[in-house]
Amino acid sequence: MSADASGSAAILERTDRYIAQTYARSRVAFVRGRGAELWDADGKRYLDFFSSILCTNLGHAHPAVTRAICEQADRLVHLSNLHYSEPQSRLAEKLVEHSFAERVFLCNSGTEANEAALKAARRYGHARGGRYEVLTTLGSFHGRTMAMIAATGQEKVRRGFEPMLPGFRYVPYGDVAAMEEAIRPETVAILVEPIQGEGGVVVPPDRYLPGLRELCDRHDMLLMFDEVQTGCGRTGTLFAYEQTGCAPDVMTLAKSLGNGLPVGAMLAAPRAASALDVGAHASTFGGNCVTNAAAVATLEVLTDGGTLARARLASERFRTGLASLAARHPEDLGAVRGRGLLLGLETRSGECATGIAARALERGLLLNVTAERVLRIAPPLVVSDAEIDEGLAILGQAAS
Ligand SMILES: *Cc1c(COP(=O)(O)O)cnc(C)c1O
Repeated sequence: MSADASGSAAILERTDRYIAQTYARSRVAFVRGRGAELWDADGKRYLDFFSSILCTNLGHAHPAVTRAICEQADRLVHLSNLHYSEPQSRLAEKLVEHSFAERVFLCNSGTEANEAALKAARRYGHARGGRYEVLTTLGSFHGRTMAMIAATGQEKVRRGFEPMLPGFRYVPYGDVAAMEEAIRPETVAILVEPIQGEGGVVVPPDRYLPGLRELCDRHDMLLMFDEVQTGCGRTGTLFAYEQTGCAPDVMTLAKSLGNGLPVGAMLAAPRAASALDVGAHASTFGGNCVTNAAAVATLEVLTDGGTLARARLASERFRTGLASLAARHPEDLGAVRGRGLLLGLETRSGECATGIAARALERGLLLNVTAERVLRIAPPLVVSDAEIDEGLAILGQAAS
């Protein structure tokens, strides 16, 4: 172990000794970041194609966000929801201004945003003869609280935590007919990701989400999009639903909403917004001054006109580069999929994917593996052409 108490070895050792052992970590400790670059505790530079699990869409230490955080922290850090505060009023206004929604419930994480959506759906159903069931999809991911592991269509997140909260059923993703068949009198909502993120960057057929919209309209059900991962510019538009030709009744956001600060939101169209009334839901830190000031600054940059346009160009450069990489390694690499800068590259096996990610990390490139054998490429939207080319070159070496 290093004698230096702030070097990598010391950080790794303390973490391994004292932190709950719920995560499988790569053995590297980062201490500083700027844009798409990160530095570890021993001074080594890395390119970040993971964006801290898709939470820093504007890159590390974005100056506008840092300024908003510092100014707000100097003025007022936190205020309860029993009084009014400026940052949350501005954040909610911005979210409504740039979406289908009429009202916003603010919270701190993705799972908590989905809990709010579930409570809105349950209230909506209770007012309509006691309907309560929410249909979700196989391969989905909605969070790790008890209700959201019940909502998540992956057996592995539920194992050992039974009994599960009742009121969910899982339907194959991308299949409107299967969803229609699953609807029962007690069904009140569909909760679905516009692109499955943790499920392996799975893009559904174009007709899928509009098809679910029609089903929900026909059966007086709420259509709820979990945009915790796809939101905030990740797919090339501010929200992924903008590319689907339909809008949901409820949308949840978190991950990159505060460009790295913990902030979540549940956005609701009129009929869903009225389901939650005074006393129906609360969150002590929901609407926190500093996190919400960061989110306002994040949304200002995301809607400045240039950031998303640049992200779409970067997406094209990645697609071209990844496709040619896959063509050079046909035995190991498959199709490129995704939208914007939420990209997935299929590999032959889990071993192949983790091997490539580990060799890339050694060479100074961060990316991650999801759904066992899909390389997820999710750089910040501000990634430069030079950084894209550098990262693709490293990926090429790691794949060889
Ligand atoms: C990450 C994620 C969540 C959970 O968010 P937390 O902030 O970890 O609770 C929920 N849904 C989707 C689609 C996600 O990607």
